Amino acid sequence: MKNHKFNFRSRPSFWHNRDMGLFKKRSNCYCAFCRSPRRIYRKKSISFLNLVASSFASLIFMLVFWRGFDPRVCIVFVVCLAIAEVFVKLRWRLSVVCRQCGFDPVLYKKNPMDAALKVRSQLDLRRQDPRYLLVKPLILPTLSSEKAQALKEKSKGQLVSRSI
Ligand SMILES: [Zn+2]
Repeated sequence: MKNHKFNFRSRPSFWHNRDMGLFKKRSNCYCAFCRSPRRIYRKKSISFLNLVASSFASLIFMLVFWRGFDPRVCIVFVVCLAIAEVFVKLRWRLSVVCRQCGFDPVLYKKNPMDAALKVRSQLDLRRQDPRYLLVKPLILPTLSSEKAQALKEKSKGQLVSRSI
């Protein structure tokens, strides 16, 4: 007879699992260049929750420093909102860049050559760093010379993967 035990600890709860549910902050994805798995923050801008938190923080600041209602609380509220927005934007922007190959999709949309140079410098650093000697090598895109020539003739712009 088989012993069917259900282990409650192996199953993460709704509130503690950050991958699902109400507080899902990061999502799993793959790097567009080296195809290594990674997690990025989904939120690009502040939400209603940040608005409520900023209003509470400004109210507490007002009660602590001015001991009552003061119209200067509006300035503190705006500053709190700005700090929250900068923090959320920076967090998202830093999580978008691949830590393995240095590929930056936002920079690639603006300027593909700068993105290619950044990936090249990251790969050069990775090649020289002894910490990466025993790790699994990256799956970098390969392109045959005939295909590269055919794509160049189409004049769709310079290929980033050939310039790296
Ligand atoms: Zn990558």
